[in-house]
Amino acid sequence: MKFIDSGLSEPFLRALTKLKYETASPIQAQAIPVVLAGDDLIGCAQTGTGKTAAFALPMLHRLLEKLPPKPPTQRVKGKRVSGSPKAPPRPIRSLVLAPTRELAAQIGESLKKYGQATPLKHTVIFGGVSQVPQVRDIRYGVDTLVATPGRLLDLMDQGHIDLSQIEMLVFDEADQMLDMGFLPDLKRIVASVPKERQTLMFSATMPPEIRNLAQQWLTDPVAIQV
Ligand code: AMP
Repeated sequence: MKFIDSGLSEPFLRALTKLKYETASPIQAQAIPVVLAGDDLIGCAQTGTGKTAAFALPMLHRLLEKLPPKPPTQRVKGKRVSGSPKAPPRPIRSLVLAPTRELAAQIGESLKKYGQATPLKHTVIFGGVSQVPQVRDIRYGVDTLVATPGRLLDLMDQGHIDLSQIEMLVFDEADQMLDMGFLPDLKRIVASVPKERQTLMFSATMPPEIRNLAQQWLTDPVAIQV
C-alpha cells in the first residue's frame, strides 16, 4: 500500500513525503485502516517493522480530526501565547504506555516526525529524572502523553494528570511490560481511563497472559500479525 492511498489526511502525507516514506510496511498496511476505522487492534510485531508509525500515524489522524477549538491567545510578557499554566489545559486524549524510557523517548521522536505538520502536542514522561519539566509540559497541555507506567502513576497520585478524557489507549511492547512486573500498575491505569475508548495493543510475543488482558481491555479487537 502506498501512503497516498492509506486514508491519512494531508498533514500526514506531507510529513511522510518529507521523510521520503512512500510505501507502508506490512504492519502499517494492515493497522492503519483498522485504527482509522476506530476499531481496537491487537498486533503481534517486533521493533524494526515500522510498528510505531503503524499506530502513531492513524492515532494522530484521529486526534486531529476531533481537535477541540484552540484556547484564546493571551499576552505574557508581551508575547502572544495560547494556553498557560493557569488556564485549564487541553485534555490528554491519547495515552501511549511503554516499558522503558528508551522506547518512550523513541515514540516521542516518532510523534514529532509524523505530527510535524499539525498543531498536535505530546510529551514523554519516565522515571529516573526530575519530574519538574514533565509536570510543566503537562500543565501547558498535550494531546498525547507517552509514559512508562511507574512515573505515570506517581504523577497521577500527585494530582498532576487527569486521564478522564482519554479517547485512545496504546500498549506498546505489552509482553515486556508484564515481564518487568508492571501488571498491577497497568491495571490501575486502565481503571483510570474511560471505558469508552479505542485501545491498541502491540506485543512481540502472544503468551496466554497477553491474550487474557487483551480480552479484558480491548473490545472485539482486529488481530494482526507480521
Ligand atoms: P519502528 O519499527 O517503528 O521502530 O520503525 C523502524 C524504522 O523504520 C524507523 O527508523 C522508522 O523511521 C522507519 N520506517 C517506518 N516505517 C517506514 C516506511 N513505511 N518507510 C520507510 N521507513 C520507515
